[in-house]
Amino acid sequence: MDDARRCYLCPRRCGAARGAGETGACGESFDMRISRIALHPYEEPPISGRNGSGTVFFCGCSLRCVFCQNRDISRGRSAGKVYTPEALGEAMLSLEKQGATNINLVTPTHFAHEVAQALRAVKDKLSIPVVYNTSGYETVETLRMLEGLVDIYMPDFKYMSAELAGDYSSAPDYGEVAEAAVTEMYRQVGRYVYADDGTLKRGLLVRHLVLPGCRADSMAVLRRLAEILPTDGILLSLMSQYTPDFALDCPHKNLRRRLTRFEYDSVAGTAISLGFDGFMQSRSSAVKDYTPNFEK
Ligand code: SF4
Repeated sequence: MDDARRCYLCPRRCGAARGAGETGACGESFDMRISRIALHPYEEPPISGRNGSGTVFFCGCSLRCVFCQNRDISRGRSAGKVYTPEALGEAMLSLEKQGATNINLVTPTHFAHEVAQALRAVKDKLSIPVVYNTSGYETVETLRMLEGLVDIYMPDFKYMSAELAGDYSSAPDYGEVAEAAVTEMYRQVGRYVYADDGTLKRGLLVRHLVLPGCRADSMAVLRRLAEILPTDGILLSLMSQYTPDFALDCPHKNLRRRLTRFEYDSVAGTAISLGFDGFMQSRSSAVKDYTPNFEK
């Protein structure tokens, strides 16, 4: 936020005077609200590790996709609990004591100042990596503020098409923004590195959720990613978990159905032919009681 406490942290640059109590397009105001802090076993295997990832779910989101499967948290329906940066730092240390594989900050960008402050206080005391788990809709400036504090970036790369990004996330600039963001993330953390126990120590893991009716755009995302970053230097997680259960009255016809095997397999084939390393999600994950199941 600038001196007037107006916020320009994310690419919406809505300028909400959060310091004066205004709410931004992300749905959040002054207080850092956190919905849940707990060990979470359902991330990709090198992120979950043996005991689970130490997840911190922040309330609110600056992207707010129509198909969001975390909407109670991202749309501010969960009241959450207000944390100070000091309390968040303590919670991170506690997660490590509980055996967390890492500290996994889920959708933290609209609280980036407070998150950076918490990390500056405890980073030297943590012996586990810090994961920045984001929609990919990030400004380079905000990412630069986090340099040296984050070990693993785990962004989505959702769309290339401005039309799709406009329809589903009200963010027609998403593709160009995400390209610049993942390029900056890779500049900061470099090629991925595994620890001896198979967990991820450092690097960039890009997630892509294949949506029904969008396989051509999914392939475009993968091709663009392969043009801007080395496919053997990053990890790709190709996800199939989209479930339409919430969207029976959704105005977007494609989102009212499940992903087909043909759609997912054709995108997976493109990922393999481009030389990506990483994870593919079993299609059995696309059920209401979502239990991710990743295969290397
Ligand atoms: S983080 Fe929230 S308040 Fe800040 S610019 Fe983005 S949408 Fe606006």
